Amino acid sequence: MSLDGAYDPDNIFAKIIRRELPSAIIYEDEEVLAFMDVFPQSKGHCLVISKTSRARNLLEADAGTLNSLIAAVQKVTRAVREALDPDGIVVTQFNGAPAGQTVYHLHFHIIPRWLDQPLGRHGEGPMADSTQLGDLAQLIATRLT
Ligand code: AMP
Repeated sequence: MSLDGAYDPDNIFAKIIRRELPSAIIYEDEEVLAFMDVFPQSKGHCLVISKTSRARNLLEADAGTLNSLIAAVQKVTRAVREALDPDGIVVTQFNGAPAGQTVYHLHFHIIPRWLDQPLGRHGEGPMADSTQLGDLAQLIATRLT
């Protein structure tokens, strides 16, 4: 899908917000939801999405949405650091299929990195074990401030 198009209310993340699909939730408030990526590029790879916006990508989002999202991204990134002690953390976001986007509901990736561990390929990793993802989500959630 290109940068232009209509928001699909039945995309995977919309279904996660409505609890029509399961997810390992780290954090939720009125505006945002943070949960574990099921095809993680590293241990602790998680996503932060808007619960209220129908923006498919960064270009379509209003400032209020971005304000709440990036504040939540920082909050969860800090918790990931406290929980997992990575050497670095990638925060990233893709716009349009040619850029690597596969789910057309605005989201940020938080991907912890360790010096001795290679990064998995985006969208190509094996599906993670749901129990392990739940445990990781809980661990990260205990470090939220
Ligand atoms: P992007 O390719 O930037 O649109 O990111 C979408 C991300 O969603 C990818 O990293 C996928 O691994 C992840 N993903 C796809 N389906 C699910 C799901 N049901 N629960 C959690 N993460 C998912």
